[in-house]
Amino acid sequence: MSEAVADIGLIGLAVMGQNLILNMNDKGFTVCAFNRTVSKVDDFLANEAKGTKVIGAHSVAELCSKLKKPRKVILLVKAGDAVDNFIQQLLPHLEKGDLIIDGGNSHFPDTNRRCGELEQRGLLYVGAGVSGGEEGARHGPSLMPGGTTGAWPLIQEIFQKTAAKTEDGTPCCDWVGEGGSGHYVKMVHNGIEYGDMQIIAEAYNLLKDVLGLSYDEMANVFDEWNKTELDSFLIEITRDIFKFRDTDGKPLVEKIRDTAGQKGTGKWTAMSALDLGMPVTLIGEAVFARCLSSLKDERLAASKAIPAPTDLKFTGDKAAFIEDIRQACYAAKIISYAQGFMMLREAAKVHGWNLNYSGIAPMWKGGCIIRSAFLGDIAAAFNKNPNLANLLLDDFFLKAVLKAMPHYRRVVSQAVLLGVPVPALSTALAFFDGYRHARLPANLIQAQRDFFGAHTYELEEKPGNHIHTNWTGRG
Ligand code: NAP
Repeated sequence: MSEAVADIGLIGLAVMGQNLILNMNDKGFTVCAFNRTVSKVDDFLANEAKGTKVIGAHSVAELCSKLKKPRKVILLVKAGDAVDNFIQQLLPHLEKGDLIIDGGNSHFPDTNRRCGELEQRGLLYVGAGVSGGEEGARHGPSLMPGGTTGAWPLIQEIFQKTAAKTEDGTPCCDWVGEGGSGHYVKMVHNGIEYGDMQIIAEAYNLLKDVLGLSYDEMANVFDEWNKTELDSFLIEITRDIFKFRDTDGKPLVEKIRDTAGQKGTGKWTAMSALDLGMPVTLIGEAVFARCLSSLKDERLAASKAIPAPTDLKFTGDKAAFIEDIRQACYAAKIISYAQGFMMLREAAKVHGWNLNYSGIAPMWKGGCIIRSAFLGDIAAAFNKNPNLANLLLDDFFLKAVLKAMPHYRRVVSQAVLLGVPVPALSTALAFFDGYRHARLPANLIQAQRDFFGAHTYELEEKPGNHIHTNWTGRG
C-alpha cells in the first residue's frame, strides 16, 4: 500500500497536463502523475519534473492509493472516449465523496451526462474549462470549473492558486455553476474569441484595402488602439504580427494563405445558439467567415468571374475613418459579448444552472486569449446588477454603444458601398437595429406561414389566441 501523500492526481502527460502539474507544484501542492503510455511518467519525473515534489504512479490503482482523501483526480486527456475510459478505470479505486475533474475540452452535454452518472454513485464530478494553452497551463490559466456543487470547497484553494491573476490579484477562476456549465462557459468563451478575431480581421481588411495603410502604419494604429477601450491581448499580438518581418524583410502575415482553420468550439457555440433559439449572430458569422475563407479555390475562380465595384474609391478623411473603424470594433465587441451573455442566460434556464454571471468576466480577464480591459467593465455591470437582462441595457455599455453608433454606421455603409466584406461588423449592427425595434416585419412572416401552411398567427391585440385565415378565399 502506497502512502497517501498527494493533494491531487493528474492523468494525461501531454503538453497541458505536464504544464499544469508543474504550475500546481510551484504553488505548493503535491501532484501525482499518471499517463496511459506509462513510460511517459518516468520520462516526465526524470526530466521536466526533476527536482520538484511531483510523484508518479504506474497504474490507476497506484495513483488512487497515493491521493489524500477525499481523492481528487484531474483528467487532461483527449476529449471523448478517453475521458469515459479513464472514469471507468478510476471507479473501482474511488469511494463516495471522491472527485473526478475533467480539464479537457469536452463538449458540455458529455459533462452533463458524466456529472449525473457519477453523482448517482456518490462521487463528485467537475468539468473545468481550461484556457490559455501551454503557456497558461504553466504560469496561470483561466479556469472555469462547474459540476457537483459540493466539489468547489475541495478544489477552490488549488484552482485559485494555480489560476492566472488579474492586476489586482483576483484569481481568474471562480465556481461557474452546476453540471456541464463550466465547459459551456469555456465553449462560449471560445466562440467569443472567434468573434473578437473576426472583428479585428475585418478592421485589418478596411485599414489595408480601403485606406491603403502599410503594415507599419497598421502596427502604429493598433498600438494606439491598445491604449483605448480596445486594450486587449488580441489587439496587442495583432500589432506585433504587423511588425513581424520575414527573412526577406516583407511582412510575414501578408504571405500566409488566407484560409482560417477551426477546431470546432466556435461551431459548437453557434450550434448551441441555434438550439437555444438565441440570435448569437456575430459568433455565427465569425464561424461562417472561416468557412468561406477555406473555399479558396472557389473564391479564386469567383474573383475572376465576378467584378468588384471598380468605380468606387474611399475619398474621405483617413484619420477620421481610422477612428470610425476603432469605434465600430468597440461597438461590435459590446454587441458580441451581449449576445454571448444572452446565450449563457438561456442555457442556464434550459439546463437549470445557477450561473455566476458576475464571476464569469473576471475568469476571462487573465490567462486566456480574450483577456482585455473591457472585461472589467462587464464584471462591473454584473456586480451592479446581477440580474441584468442584457449588457446593452447597462448604462455604461448603452452609452458607449450609442456614442460609437454614428462611426459604426459609417464604417458598415462605406464597406458595403466599396464591396469590402464585413460580415461580423454588419451582422452585429443588424442585430442591434433589430433588438432596439419594438416592431419587426415578422408579422408578414407569420401571414406567409399561415397562408401556405396554416401555421396560424396571433393578433397584436389578442396575444395567445391562435387564428387561421383562409387567405385565398378558396375552400
Ligand atoms: P491531447 O493531445 O489532447 O491528448 C493527449 C493525452 O491524451 C495523452 O496523455 C494521451 O495519452 C491521452 N490519450 C489520448 N487518447 C487516449 C485514449 N484513447 N485513452 C487514454 N488516453 C488517451 O493533449 P493536450 O493538448 O495536452 O490537451 C489535453 C486536453 O486539454 C484536451 O482535451 C485538449 O482539448 C484540452 N486543451 C488543450 C489546450 C492546448 O492548448 N493544447 C488548451 C486547452 C484545453 P498517451 O500519451 O498514452 O497517448
